[in-house]
Amino acid sequence: MPDDDRTELRRLHRIAEPQALAALLAQATLPHETGTRAAARAHALVRAARSAHRPGADVTDFLKEYGLGTAEGVALLCLAEALLRIPDAATADALIEDRIAAVDWQAHLGRGDSLAVNASAWAFMLTGRVLTREEAEGGLQAAIQRMVRRLGEPVIRTALRRGMRVLARQFVIGRTIAEALARANSAEGRRWRHSFDMLGEAAKTAADATRYMAAYRDAIAAIARASAGRGPVEGPGISVKLSALHPRYEPLQQARCVPALTDALTQLARAAKQGNIGLTVDAEEADRLEISLDIFAAVLADPRLNGWDGLGLAVQAYQKRAPAVIDWVAALARQTGHRVPVRLVKGAYWDTEIKLAQIAGHSDYPVFTRKAATDVSWLACARQMLGCRDALRPAFATHNAHSLATVLETADNADFEMQRLHGMGEALYETIVGPTCPVRVYAPVGTHEDLLAYLVRRLLENGANTSFVHRLVDSAVPEEAIVADPVGRVSAQGATPNPRIPLPRDLYPDRANSAGFDLGDRAAAPVLLASVQRLAGKMHRISGTGSAREIRSPADRRVLVGTATDATEAEINAALTRLATGWRDWDAAGAGHRAAVLDRAANLIEAARDELLALLAREGGKTLTDGIAEVREAADGCRWYAARAREQFAPRDLPGPTGERNTWSLGGRGVFAAISPWNFPLAIFTGQIAAALAAGNAVAAKPAEQTPLVAARTVALLHKAGVPAGALALLPGDGPSVGQVLIRDPRIAGVAFTGGTETAQDIARQLAERPGPIIPFIAETGGVNAMIVDSSALPEQVIADVIASAFVSAGQRCSALRLLCLQDDVADRMLTMFAGATETLMIGDPLDPATDVGPVIDEEARDRLRRYAARMDTPLFELALPPGTEHGTFFAPRAYLLDDPGRLREEVFGPILHVVRYAADRLDAVMNAVASTGFGLTLGVHSRIESTQRCIVERLQVGNAYVNRNQIGAVVGVQPFGGRGLSGTGPKAGGPITLYRFAEEHVVSINTAAAGGNAALLAADEG
Ligand SMILES: Cc1cc2nc3c(=O)[nH]c(=O)nc-3n(C[C@H](O)[C@H](O)[C@H](O)COP(=O)(O)OP(=O)(O)OC[C@H]3O[C@@H](n4cnc5c(N)ncnc54)[C@H](O)[C@@H]3O)c2cc1C
Repeated sequence: MPDDDRTELRRLHRIAEPQALAALLAQATLPHETGTRAAARAHALVRAARSAHRPGADVTDFLKEYGLGTAEGVALLCLAEALLRIPDAATADALIEDRIAAVDWQAHLGRGDSLAVNASAWAFMLTGRVLTREEAEGGLQAAIQRMVRRLGEPVIRTALRRGMRVLARQFVIGRTIAEALARANSAEGRRWRHSFDMLGEAAKTAADATRYMAAYRDAIAAIARASAGRGPVEGPGISVKLSALHPRYEPLQQARCVPALTDALTQLARAAKQGNIGLTVDAEEADRLEISLDIFAAVLADPRLNGWDGLGLAVQAYQKRAPAVIDWVAALARQTGHRVPVRLVKGAYWDTEIKLAQIAGHSDYPVFTRKAATDVSWLACARQMLGCRDALRPAFATHNAHSLATVLETADNADFEMQRLHGMGEALYETIVGPTCPVRVYAPVGTHEDLLAYLVRRLLENGANTSFVHRLVDSAVPEEAIVADPVGRVSAQGATPNPRIPLPRDLYPDRANSAGFDLGDRAAAPVLLASVQRLAGKMHRISGTGSAREIRSPADRRVLVGTATDATEAEINAALTRLATGWRDWDAAGAGHRAAVLDRAANLIEAARDELLALLAREGGKTLTDGIAEVREAADGCRWYAARAREQFAPRDLPGPTGERNTWSLGGRGVFAAISPWNFPLAIFTGQIAAALAAGNAVAAKPAEQTPLVAARTVALLHKAGVPAGALALLPGDGPSVGQVLIRDPRIAGVAFTGGTETAQDIARQLAERPGPIIPFIAETGGVNAMIVDSSALPEQVIADVIASAFVSAGQRCSALRLLCLQDDVADRMLTMFAGATETLMIGDPLDPATDVGPVIDEEARDRLRRYAARMDTPLFELALPPGTEHGTFFAPRAYLLDDPGRLREEVFGPILHVVRYAADRLDAVMNAVASTGFGLTLGVHSRIESTQRCIVERLQVGNAYVNRNQIGAVVGVQPFGGRGLSGTGPKAGGPITLYRFAEEHVVSINTAAAGGNAALLAADEG
């Protein structure tokens, strides 16, 4: 299927919500009579479901009481997510204590009428062996606390684990496919059709993918046997997640994951055809949609699948692209001669999609922001699907009575099926399931270790107070509200987006968020890539009177990027003379003017994105993903400091005695020397300059010796924005010939420096020895950054965060992870996964969007790493450098095991990670060793136990601590960045108090009564 058939799909990707809804509303609006019938049917379904509902029979009651808005609900969610995977008793007990003892269960007693909510249910959850019903009913809180105090008893742990399994089991049909098939074949099971899903996390390693592939194959064989020729429509089938079959199922890895997954899915589809069962491809995150369509189209086109109409696809209605996806599948079906089963779902990753779009700074969301809008989209898509039954075999997945009733009233014959999840919606479908309305159950199969991720999604769905299943069991919600027509609701709201979810650009109250760029966007990315490639060929030059030196690409030393002429002493002198007088005008122009100039600079930096990306890749060896983040950070820095200047630099009258006026104001100090590193040649370079300029200073900017060209381009943009030549001068060169000269010059009134700790100490010494005024020195230096991981952490999440923290940017970030501390009980498993996941990294040309790890900056850096590696023992693992890297300064990512965390005393600036293992009762010793390095920049903590998180964060007191995420990529104004101890002086970059350090305070006190009397006081109104 040609790519350009997706034009409409791409147009809709992040279209404004009202626009997306305009067409859908028309499509979802029913003729009056049909609408009335659908409403009556929905009412009837709700009444029937409510009366069939046995309180306490399922987990929904439980989640109704302990909703996600309560501390208890969150505690339960966390317990359910983590408890079952914790192998050691000590950590399991700590989690239980943390989550169970801390919240007020007593408040819920007697509120619900259901078994699940009552104390007796807790007795059940915690097993009858621990609490008798009488005991529990006599005082739940006390009983729980008594239990928790007796934590040493393994029975408590066992009991809670069992309770969590009870919770989990509701959503799983069987631990093995044999068990699942047996249950589906029971008298009750035979009323429903089934599609089995083999549970598990997404594959992180090639070995995971192989294991999941085998599980799917075995399941297909078993399902085929059980189906006994009933075929894809009547018989049971299987649902497949592509993320289980490839460790890098990502848009930027399409060159390798699409062919591999096409092959894997073809094999599974052929097996399903042979067994004459259906196979549906689940829908996952929105950024994977296009690659999933590539794979689906390629498999469907395989002639070996002709004559079998069992390969189906799930479509998410919460995505704005849904109608175009349906059209696309219908066209594909007609073209390939298949009738394609399509399962319409609303979508399970809504919260994730919103967060990802905000982080990435996208123009809009790929999903709707109001629940009713998703419902409208689902209804419109349902009608659309019913209209192309020649090409599609529609399946409608919902637990919502209104959605269900509408389909039943609008579908004119039975050529479709309804679908629900195992453990949900049983009561709703009870009255309609049968030969005229076949209902298929999506039935997950797996042991409790495999189901945690799935369980969390289900608990979220059942616990959300917008969710239909949640409202159904809540007798406080009137029937009328539950079945309200979403078309009416959306129309009444004017199809506007949810006001509580601002667009990514509008996240901040006083400034625009920087614009991100989606390299996986099939419409926009090729344009950007072509432009970057073209600009990458451009030769750059910094001219001057000194001798020129060549700047060569770290990715390929044969490639000349440009030439730079370092500033001579005469040029430095002339620049300082200019700045020493120029800063006064800049200061006097006022904060408003300076802020406006910086805002313009931010816009210009964003507009020059492609050129900057090309330069960052060529001169700095930065991958495109890193480059985009850097352009954003530079723009954010300008806008942040502009906003702070507006806010903080207006003169303020201070309260005091009558007859005088006391005015406090801030102003520039003079000329700041800004000395920046090569690892963020744009973002840190711009950040230092923008802060100094915003505060009313002039800036002598010395970029790193390795990256003067990016700096020159940035300075040109700042000048273009309106920074006068008297306020900013670029002084390229090395430390001795430029940096030292600046530091010693009496015209310098402050120094902002980012770089190594020893250089910072040198500068501090030199500044201390200067005659004349003592000037501010703001230093950001390095760190020996640790991440501490206990056994409650989710391994898949840990590994993704470790790889990002340690190896992204080839480990050349001062925030990068250097020392990973793994609790012994999980270390083996995590290290195996870590090694396997690292194997999937792409090392190579930073201009290739698929590249994960680029080169280190130069030979000197690489040689230092090589020398360090030569001193170390055999690595735990080390990646091989691929062909094509031999002309660049690449260094293969690797990890070393240390027996003692105290052995790491220095910052090793590259993709080298050190790992230590610690026994659960030795956490204190690990923290002491980390603290004893004297650094304090970043810290990562992975633990589900809040008391552990708090303990580590409080004990280690670093500048930036990150919990349950990676520890790089601080965002301006959101995570002000900078360390303590050996890691820096503060104030942090991009923080609320940064500008004060760049500024000087003035206070003017005027005696307003000096003329002989206090006229203002005498004339004042008595009120
Ligand atoms: C058989 C079956 C197969 C499934 N397969 C998949 C799959 O492959 N991929 C997948 O992603 N999901 C899948 N799901 C899960 C499905 O997405 C959810 O169960 C479904 O969204 C719940 O919808 P509902 O009509 O039952 O409930 P409702 O309560 O009517 O709808 C809840 C849904 O509304 C949406 N929503 C909630 N809040 C908002 C908001 N503020 N703005 C916009 N939208 C909002 C979300 O999609 C949420 O899940 C499947 C479900 C079933 C039954």
